[in-house]
Amino acid sequence: MNEIKKMFIDGQWVVSLSGKAREVVNPSNGEVFALVTEGSAADVKLAVAAAKRAFYEDGWMDTKAIERARLLYAVADEIARCASELSLLDTLDNGKPLRETEFDVSDAVTCFRYYAGIATKPHGQTYEVADAIQSIVIREPIGVCGQIIPWNYPLLMAAWKLAPALAAGNTVVFKPSEVTPLSAIKLFEIFEKVGYPKGVVNLVMGAGQTVGAEIASNMDIDKVAFTGGTKTGRSIMQAATGNLKNIALELGGKSPNVVFADADFELAVDYALYGIFCNQGQVCSAGSRLLLQDTIYDAFIERLVERAKKIKVGIGTAPETEMGPLISESHMQKVLNYIETGKNEGAKLLCGGSRIVEGDLGKGYFVEPTIFGDTTPDMTIVREEIFGPVLAVQKFSTEEEAIKLANDTVYGLAGAVFTNDSSKAMRFIKKLRAGITWINTYHPTYCEAPWGGYKQSGIGRELGTFGYEEYTEVKQINITYEPQLTGWFQG
Ligand code: NAD
Repeated sequence: MNEIKKMFIDGQWVVSLSGKAREVVNPSNGEVFALVTEGSAADVKLAVAAAKRAFYEDGWMDTKAIERARLLYAVADEIARCASELSLLDTLDNGKPLRETEFDVSDAVTCFRYYAGIATKPHGQTYEVADAIQSIVIREPIGVCGQIIPWNYPLLMAAWKLAPALAAGNTVVFKPSEVTPLSAIKLFEIFEKVGYPKGVVNLVMGAGQTVGAEIASNMDIDKVAFTGGTKTGRSIMQAATGNLKNIALELGGKSPNVVFADADFELAVDYALYGIFCNQGQVCSAGSRLLLQDTIYDAFIERLVERAKKIKVGIGTAPETEMGPLISESHMQKVLNYIETGKNEGAKLLCGGSRIVEGDLGKGYFVEPTIFGDTTPDMTIVREEIFGPVLAVQKFSTEEEAIKLANDTVYGLAGAVFTNDSSKAMRFIKKLRAGITWINTYHPTYCEAPWGGYKQSGIGRELGTFGYEEYTEVKQINITYEPQLTGWFQG
């Protein structure tokens, strides 16, 4: 415990230049269980210099795709080998149940394997543009990429960022959330073990205001890729204007989950629960607004509440736990404040609504699964992202009303529809202004398909070939195989 965990800069494990350290807290019991070095802007500058040198001078930009693929496959194999250690680290650090972190680790393995494969696939285009001229288009790495992630999926978000960036041949300066740095440290140990050349992968830990802000504004970082809150995304966009960085933003959401009366009732109840209470509601794409058709509203609510009350809340390492604590005391307080606001604004509290204070759980940051009915579109709990286990239920009567309510948000990350009428499902989804959508399911996501939002949920896409392309520049090369003088100037 007294050991201060280090950052990885230029192929070395180092403490911050400031000498400061940060305590890492287990949200299940509020206890400090690790110490990590606390980086600063000066550490970011060192990491950027190393990443720049590795890219331009030490030859990483010319590394063959097959070699990049080999390294990524090796990373995937090592993550798989260390799976139980990694899932335990994320459970201790974030609080989420082991069964969730086991999924996250397995998804991280898949992500590294997917991008290892993508690295060696064809990426260009060719055109017959004129007589004896061939135009070819190639993709090249952008250069030094700064990457900043949140705390809700510590290892998986790291994989989503690092795997495509490295597959495309970039060097990286990576910052995990200051509250969940531990699995990232292990991941960088894996990078070191599989043999990434020094300076290609750099880990700088620390606060958003210092380390994050420097990554966003540093003039030698060519791209900043950020996942986190919309407010932070806005400040990153502003900070990135200095050198007109390429930016990618994966931000917040207030996603609608819409259930029509003709849907499979039990299926829709099941996914309504999963949509909001999975990962304690701390999911950007959470189905935090449940829109129910009026004819099933009462019966649906009754069943939903009955099942929500049975959710087993507990510490993440206990095998029976279905829902863990929130990430921190301050976040829990924010969620509890939203619950108070919901009550004050006239929403009907149907279940939950409180911190769990009894027994051992009282030491952690546990909040009951909470459902509000009788909500109206102007209520704060319907409009703002709570990022906790709080569901706002809305009522609609017609398809037109459902789509209007669903789109009545500044966000556009995700959404789902439950109906057994396939025409209605497609009509609905095509009108939904969101980047990730589901029909008769909620939450599944795959490496192959792009992830990202409309409106204030972000800019750009992660995952899939779209996510790979976001880490590339596009270059056209025009080749003539019958060179001729232009004849433009006569002298
Ligand atoms: P956050 O915005 O507070 O922090 C995210 C990261 O940004 C952290 O690493 C933090 O240190 C850093 N940061 C904070 N201020 C910064 C600044 N001024 N400059 C640079 N970096 C800064 O978000 P959070 O509380 O960690 O995570 C929750 C948010 O993340 C939610 O809004 C959620 O919807 C969003 N999220 C989005 C996605 C997605 O794919 N769209 C996925 C997961 C989480």
